[in-house]
Amino acid sequence: MAEIINGKIVSAKIREQIARDVSDFKTAEGRAPGLAVIVVGDDPASAVYVRNKHKACLEVGITSYQIEFPASISEEELLFKIDELNRDESVNGILVQLPLPKHINESAVINRIDPKKDVDAFHPENVGRIMIGDYSFLPCTPAGIMALLDYYNVTVEGKRCVVIGRSNIVGKPMALLLLERNGTVTVCHSKTRGILEICREADIIVVAVGRKEFLKADMVKPGAVIIDVGINRGADGKLVGDVAFEGVSAVASMITPVPGGVGPMTITMLLQNTVTAARMQKL
Ligand code: NAP
Repeated sequence: MAEIINGKIVSAKIREQIARDVSDFKTAEGRAPGLAVIVVGDDPASAVYVRNKHKACLEVGITSYQIEFPASISEEELLFKIDELNRDESVNGILVQLPLPKHINESAVINRIDPKKDVDAFHPENVGRIMIGDYSFLPCTPAGIMALLDYYNVTVEGKRCVVIGRSNIVGKPMALLLLERNGTVTVCHSKTRGILEICREADIIVVAVGRKEFLKADMVKPGAVIIDVGINRGADGKLVGDVAFEGVSAVASMITPVPGGVGPMTITMLLQNTVTAARMQKL
């Protein structure tokens, strides 16, 4: 049976360190680092994510500003708010909860955030920096996965790594980070042919597809390390990952569960990026 990669435990340990860093920052600067989260409309999933981020900030001592707008807000009004937050010295990190309503251009909004406050690392400047390995922030989910691999002493160098999914927020940056650690990386997507054979060669598989139990046991080499990014709802309403957990954990050497694997790490990395941003803005 595979060893469980426990994101809750790793997350709690990293958050203890973040809380100490926040407290040091407060002592030095007389105020806590601040994170502004903008949410537009009343998407229930976004509301849950934003609530969790707010709670996590409070737990480590980061000041959290929640800014809510109705779905009818215009792009100009939203950009105006971002300009205001860019100028506000008490706000070190700015995050716009996606998706945005259709009449708002997401790229225009992301591009307006000061790259030094872009704690999601979605701004083209930060994306470019990741490409050349000269970054201050990493996108939270891939950064959280690297932290999990490090905690469990999973070396990447020389390994065959397969990333399934090529989104800008997970798949692509994940592939770059594994490459930076000298993994040999293959990225699969919906047009990939022979995905079964490709996966069977992998030492490490990161699955970020958004399909219930996409990765089955017959796609996994014995002893492989499996990272499940997926968040899906089962027929019973429970959370299910992109990996058929029961079958795959009988073949793999290590595996992340859903929930309790990658999920808690994502918010932890957001907190870490906020502290990094606050320190950078003091330089
Ligand atoms: P996304 O933007 O929808 O991307 C999904 C990717 O999967 C696409 O690149 C798509 O290929 C690929 N794909 C779809 N069907 C496929 C198939 N049959 N075979 C191979 N590849 C296929 O999703 P995302 O934002 O990266 O998120 C992926 C999952 O992770 C979702 O369940 C999401 O909820 C979850 N997530 C979790 C966290 C966390 O903190 N745990 C954070 C972010 C996302 P094409 O590019 O060809 O369409």
